[in-house]
Amino acid sequence: MSVCRLLLFCLAGLIVHEFRAESAVPAHEAERDNPGPAAESSITFSSVHVDGPYIAMTFDDGPSATLTPKLLDLLAAHHIKATFFVIGENVAEHPEIVARAAREGHEIGNHSWSHPNLAKMSEEGVRSQLRRTDDAIKSATGVRPTLLRPPYGSITAREKRWIHDEFGYQIILWDVDPNDWKRPGPAVVRTRILKETRPGSIVLSHDIHPGTIEAMPSTFDALEAKGFKFVTVSELIRTAVAQPPHASPRTGGSIPTAITASPSPPPSPASSPGS
Ligand SMILES: [Zn+2]
Repeated sequence: MSVCRLLLFCLAGLIVHEFRAESAVPAHEAERDNPGPAAESSITFSSVHVDGPYIAMTFDDGPSATLTPKLLDLLAAHHIKATFFVIGENVAEHPEIVARAAREGHEIGNHSWSHPNLAKMSEEGVRSQLRRTDDAIKSATGVRPTLLRPPYGSITAREKRWIHDEFGYQIILWDVDPNDWKRPGPAVVRTRILKETRPGSIVLSHDIHPGTIEAMPSTFDALEAKGFKFVTVSELIRTAVAQPPHASPRTGGSIPTAITASPSPPPSPASSPGS
């Protein structure tokens, strides 16, 4: 379509970073022309309005040397594509695991270098956290990420704007949180995910906790039995963008929890020894 092509042309001209098909989301362009509340919502997603049973499983804080490969085996067995929000330090330590995940069709997103609270950091500090991780992911996979999940979901509105402009990232939160970092046991993790997940959900979990990995086989079985189909976060967003304008008021709009400079972010999954 000519409109799409025009948008792509504009985007290519505006973004100085390496252009990739995955980042060619028309929503980006809308923000540049019309910054404001609508722009904010098209940068940030906690769930997505979709016209089908699509969900995105996301796994944070890895890669773990032992658990992430197990999870990758499980995902492969179920033919599920997931999204990993990785910590740069861990990528540097286990680039081969991140490379495998990317090779097997999973999406890799930036989750900072060392899991700080970005809302409490200087611009230069945040830039360093994101740039180093971006570089580590590019080095491991050959591709730069297009998504950022801020640790604790904590990020200021101002940070979102300049990070989006400078890195081209969309900011990904979640609408389903089993609190698996508290290690409640596999059955509880599964029950919480099954109870809260609906079409368009972005499910938060962590591939650094054994109980989370233990919960996944039966969780995947049960979600599949309910008819859910698993896509990466970028695929989920692309599905939403394809909706007619009147059908996507919820796109990025239903922000669940700590999105803007949360004064009391939840405890850090990465602050526990984990992996
Ligand atoms: Zn995290």
